[in-house]
Amino acid sequence: MARVHRFGKPDLFVTMTSNANWPEIKDQLALGEEAQNRPDFVARVFRAKLLALKKQIVDKHVFGEVSAYVYVVEFQKRGLPHVHFLIILKDGYKLKCPANYDKFVCAEIPTMANPALRATILKHMMHDPCGKLNPECSCMKHAKTPVRCKYEYPKSFTPTTATNIAGYPEYRRQDAGESVLIRKHLLDNRWVIPYNLYLLALFDCHLNVEVCSTMHVVKYLYKYIYKGHDKISFSVKDNDDPKGVDEIAQFQSG
Ligand SMILES: [Zn+2]
Repeated sequence: MARVHRFGKPDLFVTMTSNANWPEIKDQLALGEEAQNRPDFVARVFRAKLLALKKQIVDKHVFGEVSAYVYVVEFQKRGLPHVHFLIILKDGYKLKCPANYDKFVCAEIPTMANPALRATILKHMMHDPCGKLNPECSCMKHAKTPVRCKYEYPKSFTPTTATNIAGYPEYRRQDAGESVLIRKHLLDNRWVIPYNLYLLALFDCHLNVEVCSTMHVVKYLYKYIYKGHDKISFSVKDNDDPKGVDEIAQFQSG
Protein backbone atom coordinates (compact mmCIF):
# COMPACT_ATOMS: atom_id res chain seq x y z
CA MET A 1 0.00 0.00 0.00
CA ALA A 2 3.00 2.30 0.53
CA ARG A 3 3.69 2.06 -3.20
CA VAL A 4 0.11 3.04 -3.98
CA HIS A 5 0.43 6.01 -1.63
CA ARG A 6 3.66 7.10 -3.32
CA PHE A 7 2.97 6.24 -7.00
CA GLY A 8 -0.81 6.08 -7.29
CA LYS A 9 -3.05 3.12 -7.98
CA PRO A 10 -1.92 0.29 -10.27
CA ASP A 11 -3.07 0.50 -13.86
CA LEU A 12 -2.63 -3.10 -14.99
CA PHE A 13 -2.79 -6.57 -13.52
CA VAL A 14 -0.83 -9.16 -15.52
CA THR A 15 -0.70 -12.92 -14.90
CA MET A 16 1.59 -15.26 -16.83
CA THR A 17 1.47 -19.05 -16.38
CA SER A 18 4.22 -21.27 -17.73
CA ASN A 19 3.46 -23.42 -20.74
CA ALA A 20 4.64 -27.04 -20.48
CA ASN A 21 4.84 -27.06 -24.29
CA TRP A 22 7.32 -24.21 -24.60
CA PRO A 23 10.02 -25.53 -26.95
CA GLU A 24 12.69 -24.50 -24.41
CA ILE A 25 11.17 -27.09 -22.02
CA LYS A 26 10.24 -29.75 -24.55
CA ASP A 27 13.68 -29.75 -26.16
CA GLN A 28 15.28 -30.72 -22.86
CA LEU A 29 13.00 -33.66 -22.08
CA ALA A 30 14.28 -37.17 -22.64
CA LEU A 31 12.19 -39.59 -24.70
CA GLY A 32 8.94 -40.34 -22.82
CA GLU A 33 9.70 -37.79 -20.11
CA GLU A 34 6.95 -35.31 -19.17
CA ALA A 35 7.34 -31.66 -18.16
CA GLN A 36 5.31 -32.26 -15.00
CA ASN A 37 8.02 -34.60 -13.77
CA ARG A 38 10.83 -32.11 -14.42
CA PRO A 39 9.98 -29.08 -12.27
CA ASP A 40 13.67 -28.12 -12.50
CA PHE A 41 13.41 -27.47 -16.27
CA VAL A 42 10.03 -25.80 -15.90
CA ALA A 43 11.25 -23.45 -13.16
CA ARG A 44 14.40 -22.48 -15.09
CA VAL A 45 12.58 -21.73 -18.33
CA PHE A 46 9.79 -19.95 -16.47
CA ARG A 47 12.31 -17.67 -14.80
CA ALA A 48 13.87 -16.79 -18.15
CA LYS A 49 10.42 -15.99 -19.58
CA LEU A 50 9.54 -13.97 -16.51
CA LEU A 51 12.67 -11.83 -16.95
CA ALA A 52 11.83 -11.40 -20.63
CA LEU A 53 8.28 -10.31 -19.72
CA LYS A 54 9.63 -7.86 -17.15
CA LYS A 55 11.94 -6.42 -19.79
CA GLN A 56 9.01 -5.90 -22.17
CA ILE A 57 7.02 -4.12 -19.47
CA VAL A 58 9.71 -2.12 -17.68
CA ASP A 59 12.36 -1.40 -20.36
CA LYS A 60 10.46 -1.66 -23.64
CA HIS A 61 7.37 0.10 -22.27
CA VAL A 62 4.75 -2.10 -23.94
CA PHE A 63 2.14 -0.38 -21.80
CA GLY A 64 3.92 2.99 -21.61
CA GLU A 65 6.49 4.20 -19.07
CA VAL A 66 6.33 2.42 -15.72
CA SER A 67 6.76 4.32 -12.45
CA ALA A 68 6.53 1.27 -10.16
CA TYR A 69 5.67 -2.40 -10.25
CA VAL A 70 5.46 -5.38 -7.96
CA TYR A 71 5.25 -9.06 -8.79
CA VAL A 72 5.00 -12.37 -7.02
CA VAL A 73 5.65 -15.87 -8.34
CA GLU A 74 3.45 -18.72 -7.16
CA PHE A 75 4.31 -22.39 -7.19
CA GLN A 76 1.06 -24.06 -6.30
CA LYS A 77 0.57 -27.51 -4.89
CA ARG A 78 -0.03 -28.75 -8.40
CA GLY A 79 0.05 -27.12 -11.79
CA LEU A 80 2.58 -24.81 -13.33
CA PRO A 81 4.38 -21.81 -11.81
CA HIS A 82 2.84 -18.43 -12.56
CA VAL A 83 3.49 -14.78 -11.82
CA HIS A 84 1.21 -11.87 -10.93
CA PHE A 85 2.35 -8.35 -11.78
CA LEU A 86 0.81 -5.07 -10.66
CA ILE A 87 1.99 -2.20 -12.83
CA ILE A 88 1.75 1.50 -12.04
CA LEU A 89 2.25 3.70 -15.10
CA LYS A 90 3.71 7.19 -15.12
CA ASP A 91 1.43 10.22 -15.42
CA GLY A 92 0.68 10.74 -19.07
CA TYR A 93 0.42 6.96 -19.61
CA LYS A 94 -2.42 6.32 -17.12
CA LEU A 95 -5.35 4.28 -18.42
CA LYS A 96 -8.33 6.47 -17.81
CA CYS A 97 -11.09 5.57 -20.22
CA PRO A 98 -12.35 2.63 -22.33
CA ALA A 99 -10.46 3.92 -25.39
CA ASN A 100 -7.22 3.59 -23.35
CA TYR A 101 -8.18 0.08 -22.23
CA ASP A 102 -8.69 -1.00 -25.83
CA LYS A 103 -5.09 -0.08 -26.66
CA PHE A 104 -3.75 -2.85 -24.42
CA VAL A 105 -6.49 -5.31 -23.55
CA CYS A 106 -8.58 -7.49 -25.83
CA ALA A 107 -11.23 -10.08 -24.93
CA GLU A 108 -12.29 -11.43 -28.31
CA ILE A 109 -11.32 -14.38 -30.49
CA PRO A 110 -9.27 -13.09 -33.48
CA THR A 111 -10.76 -13.77 -36.90
CA MET A 112 -9.53 -16.44 -39.31
CA ALA A 113 -7.44 -13.69 -40.96
CA ASN A 114 -4.91 -14.21 -38.20
CA PRO A 115 -4.71 -18.00 -37.85
CA ALA A 116 -1.59 -18.20 -35.65
CA LEU A 117 -2.83 -15.75 -33.04
CA ARG A 118 -6.28 -17.24 -33.18
CA ALA A 119 -4.82 -20.66 -32.40
CA THR A 120 -2.78 -19.22 -29.50
CA ILE A 121 -5.85 -17.58 -27.97
CA LEU A 122 -8.03 -20.65 -28.39
CA LYS A 123 -5.31 -22.72 -26.75
CA HIS A 124 -4.46 -20.49 -23.78
CA MET A 125 -7.06 -17.78 -23.27
CA MET A 126 -10.47 -19.48 -23.18
CA HIS A 127 -12.04 -19.97 -19.74
CA ASP A 128 -12.92 -23.64 -19.18
CA PRO A 129 -16.56 -24.48 -19.91
CA CYS A 130 -18.33 -24.03 -16.55
CA GLY A 131 -21.78 -23.15 -15.18
CA LYS A 132 -24.58 -25.08 -16.86
CA LEU A 133 -22.12 -26.54 -19.36
CA ASN A 134 -20.00 -28.10 -16.63
CA PRO A 135 -21.13 -27.65 -12.99
CA GLU A 136 -18.15 -29.74 -11.89
CA CYS A 137 -15.61 -27.16 -13.10
CA SER A 138 -13.22 -26.04 -10.33
CA CYS A 139 -14.37 -22.40 -10.65
CA MET A 140 -17.87 -23.50 -9.52
CA LYS A 141 -16.62 -24.89 -6.23
CA HIS A 142 -16.50 -21.90 -3.92
CA ALA A 143 -18.44 -21.04 -0.80
CA LYS A 144 -20.15 -17.76 -1.72
CA THR A 145 -22.38 -18.60 -4.66
CA PRO A 146 -21.69 -22.18 -5.70
CA VAL A 147 -24.16 -21.95 -8.57
CA ARG A 148 -22.09 -19.29 -10.30
CA CYS A 149 -18.60 -19.24 -11.74
CA LYS A 150 -16.14 -17.63 -9.33
CA TYR A 151 -14.80 -15.48 -12.17
CA GLU A 152 -18.30 -14.74 -13.52
CA TYR A 153 -17.96 -16.55 -16.84
CA PRO A 154 -19.60 -16.50 -19.27
CA LYS A 155 -19.41 -12.67 -19.41
CA SER A 156 -22.07 -10.74 -21.34
CA PHE A 157 -21.76 -9.69 -24.93
CA THR A 158 -20.66 -6.02 -24.95
CA PRO A 159 -20.58 -4.09 -28.24
CA THR A 160 -17.94 -1.59 -27.04
CA THR A 161 -15.60 -1.45 -24.04
CA ALA A 162 -17.19 0.36 -21.10
CA THR A 163 -16.86 0.86 -17.35
CA ASN A 164 -19.66 -0.60 -15.22
CA ILE A 165 -21.23 1.10 -12.16
CA ALA A 166 -18.78 -0.57 -9.79
CA GLY A 167 -15.88 0.91 -11.77
CA TYR A 168 -14.81 -2.38 -13.35
CA PRO A 169 -13.92 -2.36 -17.03
CA GLU A 170 -16.20 -4.37 -19.28
CA TYR A 171 -14.20 -5.26 -22.36
CA ARG A 172 -15.64 -5.37 -25.83
CA ARG A 173 -17.06 -8.84 -26.54
CA GLN A 174 -19.06 -8.63 -29.73
CA ASP A 175 -21.60 -11.23 -30.66
CA ALA A 176 -19.78 -12.35 -33.78
CA GLY A 177 -22.24 -15.22 -34.30
CA GLU A 178 -19.33 -17.62 -34.07
CA SER A 179 -18.46 -20.25 -31.50
CA VAL A 180 -15.56 -22.63 -31.26
CA LEU A 181 -15.42 -26.15 -29.88
CA ILE A 182 -13.30 -26.07 -26.72
CA ARG A 183 -13.15 -29.08 -24.41
CA LYS A 184 -16.37 -30.53 -25.86
CA HIS A 185 -18.39 -27.28 -25.64
CA LEU A 186 -19.10 -24.44 -28.03
CA LEU A 187 -17.64 -21.22 -26.65
CA ASP A 188 -17.75 -17.66 -28.01
CA ASN A 189 -16.36 -14.22 -27.13
CA ARG A 190 -18.08 -14.32 -23.72
CA TRP A 191 -15.50 -16.92 -22.60
CA VAL A 192 -12.30 -15.15 -23.61
CA ILE A 193 -9.87 -14.29 -20.78
CA PRO A 194 -8.60 -10.73 -21.43
CA TYR A 195 -5.15 -10.62 -23.05
CA ASN A 196 -2.63 -8.36 -24.78
CA LEU A 197 -2.09 -9.36 -28.41
CA TYR A 198 1.57 -8.36 -28.62
CA LEU A 199 2.65 -10.15 -25.42
CA LEU A 200 0.62 -13.24 -26.21
CA ALA A 201 2.22 -13.58 -29.64
CA LEU A 202 5.61 -13.20 -27.99
CA PHE A 203 5.19 -15.62 -25.09
CA ASP A 204 2.70 -18.26 -26.31
CA CYS A 205 1.21 -19.16 -22.91
CA HIS A 206 -1.63 -18.17 -20.59
CA LEU A 207 -1.00 -14.43 -20.24
CA ASN A 208 -3.89 -12.49 -18.75
CA VAL A 209 -3.76 -8.68 -18.92
CA GLU A 210 -6.45 -6.59 -17.21
CA VAL A 211 -7.00 -2.97 -16.29
CA CYS A 212 -7.10 -2.23 -12.56
CA SER A 213 -9.90 0.13 -11.69
CA THR A 214 -11.14 1.10 -8.23
CA MET A 215 -9.30 1.43 -4.95
CA HIS A 216 -11.30 -1.57 -3.78
CA VAL A 217 -9.71 -3.67 -6.50
CA VAL A 218 -6.29 -2.41 -5.52
CA LYS A 219 -6.68 -3.48 -1.91
CA TYR A 220 -7.90 -6.89 -2.96
CA LEU A 221 -5.07 -7.35 -5.40
CA TYR A 222 -2.32 -6.40 -2.97
CA LYS A 223 -3.72 -8.85 -0.47
CA TYR A 224 -3.96 -11.47 -3.19
CA ILE A 225 -0.44 -11.16 -4.43
CA TYR A 226 1.02 -11.24 -0.93
CA LYS A 227 -1.17 -14.01 0.42
CA GLY A 228 1.85 -16.31 0.74
CA HIS A 229 1.89 -20.02 0.09
CA ASP A 230 0.98 -23.22 1.87
CA LYS A 231 3.64 -25.30 3.58
CA ILE A 232 3.73 -28.89 4.69
CA SER A 233 6.15 -30.88 6.80
CA PHE A 234 6.34 -34.61 6.19
CA SER A 235 8.59 -37.59 6.65
CA VAL A 236 8.70 -41.11 5.29
CA LYS A 237 8.77 -43.93 7.85
CA ASP A 238 9.10 -47.65 7.70
CA ASN A 239 5.81 -49.40 8.55
CA ASP A 240 7.66 -51.65 11.00
CA ASP A 241 9.27 -48.73 12.80
CA PRO A 242 8.13 -49.27 16.43
CA LYS A 243 8.66 -45.62 17.35
CA GLY A 244 6.09 -44.25 14.90
CA VAL A 245 5.85 -40.47 14.77
CA ASP A 246 7.64 -38.62 17.56
CA GLU A 247 5.69 -35.37 17.57
CA ILE A 248 7.76 -33.82 20.36
CA ALA A 249 11.04 -34.40 18.49
CA GLN A 250 9.42 -33.00 15.30
CA PHE A 251 8.25 -29.88 17.11
CA GLN A 252 11.64 -29.32 18.73
CA SER A 253 13.46 -29.70 15.41
CA GLY A 254 11.18 -27.02 13.97
ZN1 LIG B 1 -15.96 -20.50 -14.61
